[in-house]
Formats: sequence, C-alpha cells, structure tokens
Amino acid sequence: MNSNKPFGYRQRDQKLERILRGEDLETWYVNDINNRKQINDYSCRFLPEKLYPGLDNQLAITSYTEEAKILAEFMTMNSGLGNRSPIKGYKQHKLCQVCQKAGQNNRINEIHLLFECVSLKPAHIKYGTQAYKQKNAGTDSQSIYKKYWSDYKDENDLNERIKSADTIRNIYLDLVKRIHNRN
Ligand SMILES: [Zn+2]
Repeated sequence: MNSNKPFGYRQRDQKLERILRGEDLETWYVNDINNRKQINDYSCRFLPEKLYPGLDNQLAITSYTEEAKILAEFMTMNSGLGNRSPIKGYKQHKLCQVCQKAGQNNRINEIHLLFECVSLKPAHIKYGTQAYKQKNAGTDSQSIYKKYWSDYKDENDLNERIKSADTIRNIYLDLVKRIHNRN
C-alpha cells in the first residue's frame, strides 16, 4: 500500500475494493450486474449483459466523458426526472408534469420522456425520437427505448442520440420549473 496517497483516494480505493470483494472490475460486472439483471433489478435492465470477463463488445463508451455519464444515466433509468428521487428543490413527481398540466395522468420515466409524451412531441420531432419511433412502428415503447440505445451505427450516431436525449430531458426539466414557479 502506498502511504503517500492522499487520504480521499485511499478511502475511495477501499470503498471500491469492498464493492468488488476482491474481484476485478470485469468479473464483478459479470457476477453482479448479470445477477441483478436476472432478478429484474429495475435500474439494471438496460445495461448490457456481459457473458464473461474480457468480452467488451457491448460497452460502447468506456471513457469517462460527459456523453458516457449521460448514457449511463439513461441506461440505468436514472436521468433525474424526479420520479426516483425529487428534482432538486421540488417534490418527488411520479407523474409527468407537462402531461398533468394538460389534464392527463401519465407516469414519468425515460421511456415516456423520449417516446410517449404527447406534450413533448415538438421536441421529439425536432430531436429525432419521433422519426425513430415511426421507423419502428408497431413496436412497444419499452422495446423502442432499448433499441434506441443499442442499434446505433457507430459512436457518432450514438453520440447524436445521447445529445438528443439530454436535450429533451433539459426541455422537460425547464418545463417542470416553469410549471411550478407559476403555481
Ligand atoms: Zn408527458
């Protein structure tokens, strides 16, 4: 152990070691994430299954960039829409706030945000999720959502999708703020 390491680093290393229980990251992923996927852990259902350590074909973006962070948020259904924990400064909202404003009760989640919300349709048209949905007409929204994050042509294509999802999310969050400041 290098005792010159800053304290914060050492603590973080120790925490990581505890989580990994002595396994390397890939072995942990195979054992833990696959396991959680099998018991239908909601937050893991869009993470790719890794069949064995070293198989790296499915984790498209492994670098730590803003895009990778956003992708991880959307793939774990944790993009800060206020349904799983409150948007900072607001109450927790299980229902889509823009739909509710229009008199409709729909649950808010990432699938509703990108593909279902009628109130956000102009954004869906502008940022391409409407066209993507039309291309997959007849498929349910959950499958479309899963496909959206997996059938991209290359990294540029994926980055475009990440940017679109991020923009639509920000439009929603701005609308939530406006709705609640007016009340
Ligand atoms: Zn909605």
